[in-house]
Amino acid sequence: MGLRSPANLIGPFIAAALLLILLIALATLVDEGELLRTDPPSEAVNVVTSIHPITAIVQKVGGDLVDVSTILPAGSGAHLHETSPRDMSVAQAAECAIRIGGEMDSWVVQVFEVSDHKSHLQLLDAAEELSQQDTVDWVNPHIWLDPIIVRDYLVPTVERELADVDASNSQHYAENAETFQDELTNLHRELVELMVDIPDRGFISDHPAWTHFARRYELWEVGVIERSPGHEAGPREFANLLQEAEAAGVRVIVTTRGHVGASAQFIADELEASMLELDPIGTPHCEERNCYLQLLRFNATRLVQALSNGSSGRKSE
Ligand SMILES: [Zn+2]
Repeated sequence: MGLRSPANLIGPFIAAALLLILLIALATLVDEGELLRTDPPSEAVNVVTSIHPITAIVQKVGGDLVDVSTILPAGSGAHLHETSPRDMSVAQAAECAIRIGGEMDSWVVQVFEVSDHKSHLQLLDAAEELSQQDTVDWVNPHIWLDPIIVRDYLVPTVERELADVDASNSQHYAENAETFQDELTNLHRELVELMVDIPDRGFISDHPAWTHFARRYELWEVGVIERSPGHEAGPREFANLLQEAEAAGVRVIVTTRGHVGASAQFIADELEASMLELDPIGTPHCEERNCYLQLLRFNATRLVQALSNGSSGRKSE
């Protein structure tokens, strides 16, 4: 039999028909796949923040209704960051941009301002009235490190912001905020209890990250080495700091994760004090400090341990 007989033509014809059916089926699957990919996330409010602690707070208030991205990569210094084109596209995709404000994360302003967000929130504005409690007319930007400031100022502000952007879910945001505020009250009680019996409460910090925290828990920030990044104390100031620390019997020098300066080491050597690395920003991949409550517990526990170990039995002043 020759290859061109009608019976032999049926094979290729069926194969072509099957291929066509397969192509149509594949095209349908791709369509459905795209629908599946785009539909549910479009419900979530896309939020971009400058640093991880804000992300942690927004996640508590927003729950499943928000999709939060952080510009600062894990492990980077929070005060200085060089933004990239990737940061631009992350910011542009968001409806709502939230930063601390002031000098804290001014590096993000450029990235936030190129985007057309529904809102651009600075949390320092929410805490503005805190400046009235001080003799200074500015608020130290490390406001997230005091759980009571977070409870009373930041959570209500974030809740209002999310409700503004996504009014249909405002009831959910209000409920989440209330639950988180209760958790913060409990955390605060836990930390008071944890720190109540430390005899020596003084420490020196590489920069004023723990000022609000120290005030809340009646610890004593005797001094700081840098008022803000790059503004290290001059020789006279440095000598005063050393003198004050010595008089106060400081045994703990707090440094910031990933940033151990020579001055901190020098003071530690002079005072025979121990260096304690804390993590004010949090480490998203690390389970023991990836959420807000854990971050505060992690740092408080380490600080208490260091202050207690450094204790020479003196009474606090
Ligand atoms: Zn800082």
